[in-house]
Amino acid sequence: MIKTIPAESYNYDEPPIQLIKWGRYGIGPNDRKALIKRAGELFVEQLRKMAVAPGEALAHNLALGATEYWGSNRNGDGFKCAECRKNHPTFVKYGHAFRHHKNDDPKKSYGVVKLSHFNEGVKRVELAVAYNATKEAADRNGGLVADEEMEALEKDGYFPTSMATHVPYDICSGCDNKARNRGEYCHGSMCKYGGLRDNIGKTFADGHTLHADNPHNRWFDISLVKRGADRTSYTLGLIEKAASVVKTGAELAEEYGIRIPIRLLHFEGAANSHLKVASELICGTPPGRDYSVAFSPAAQPALTALPDLKGRGEKLAHAMRALAEEKVILPVRDFLALMLGDVKLAAEITPRVAPHVPAAYMDLVDSGEEFASTNPFRASDRAAPHATRQWAAKLAADYSLAREHVLRRAAVAAIRGTPHELINVNQVSSLQKSATAIRSLARQYAMYKVAAVAAMDRGIERDWLLSAAVLQDLAAH
Ligand SMILES: [Zn+2]
Repeated sequence: MIKTIPAESYNYDEPPIQLIKWGRYGIGPNDRKALIKRAGELFVEQLRKMAVAPGEALAHNLALGATEYWGSNRNGDGFKCAECRKNHPTFVKYGHAFRHHKNDDPKKSYGVVKLSHFNEGVKRVELAVAYNATKEAADRNGGLVADEEMEALEKDGYFPTSMATHVPYDICSGCDNKARNRGEYCHGSMCKYGGLRDNIGKTFADGHTLHADNPHNRWFDISLVKRGADRTSYTLGLIEKAASVVKTGAELAEEYGIRIPIRLLHFEGAANSHLKVASELICGTPPGRDYSVAFSPAAQPALTALPDLKGRGEKLAHAMRALAEEKVILPVRDFLALMLGDVKLAAEITPRVAPHVPAAYMDLVDSGEEFASTNPFRASDRAAPHATRQWAAKLAADYSLAREHVLRRAAVAAIRGTPHELINVNQVSSLQKSATAIRSLARQYAMYKVAAVAAMDRGIERDWLLSAAVLQDLAAH
């Protein structure tokens, strides 16, 4: 889940952002005194040890107040002391200064987060952000000149900021319900406070303010935003709900349309973890030489004999195991043929499904570790029955990602040429009309492919496997 946390959503009695007067020779005694008052001695001491490069304008940002001390913010999000202490360094690791949460590309950033710090005195995460005041600084930091930011700081001494974070889930402060997205929020009688879905941000008679507690944060953005971006919105027609209409951090992030940035997708963990594989399929690079003809329709004739794989459970798990042993990953077209049991329909809708596959990997990554344990395509740990192994072995020549098979198919296709398959666009089935069905098929394929790659944990060079798998996706559309 992505959340945005406006700095103004905390009731600090001082502005959340303030320019630090840090000159070529450091900070003057009076400014130093004032900064120590605001940020604490430890912060100033850490800042002194850092190299502040010419052209960088330093600002001190009050980022987060710990829940135990400051309560949850106005949008119903909370961050406990232990969490703040542990994960504030992600601001430096992933964070840049952006505008309006356009945070995909650090090349379009306006500064870097130089320092993050948990101020134990006031239980607050505080940052030193270096804005690119000059072209020289912008080039050095690989971003753009922070002209708007500098103008606002010089004129008003202030501009509104908002931060963005990725959390795998949040936790209801009332009933400990874990939710990976807003759809999973507790509601009604399952929660003693009536649930986050309807009552987030409400304060009850016992003094408790119902909020979402956020663990495992990865902070990746501190943005300049328009004034009042966090304000509670009162929608006409929802008067009876007005008391509880709090716009949550997750809702704000959805409104900004924030996706998890690519730079966050390098997961730690076992090579065959589904989450890691999904992130690698998004970020991976195809092999240097162009082998894509090995994945062209000419090199990969459509499946015609369709084994029954629609059944879930052991049969599917065995088939996945047998295919993994042969390093076979079916392209979108043939996967759809298997799932739909209809070769012709599959060929028709492949051009519409394939472009949605990369976004489907993103969605899987967004949904966190849990998708791996529920992935229906997870391969069996045990060897498949003989007949299933034979079936898979026959597919290897046409569909294996093993290097020798890819090279052979590329060579054969180069001789034959690569005619394009004709797709009859006039035959629009009801399935083709439904965007939801198309995206759902893309998600199925993404889950299948992640499970297939994860199952190939031996007998193939991993770098080759990943790059061939990425190339297969690129060749599909
Ligand atoms: Zn609850």
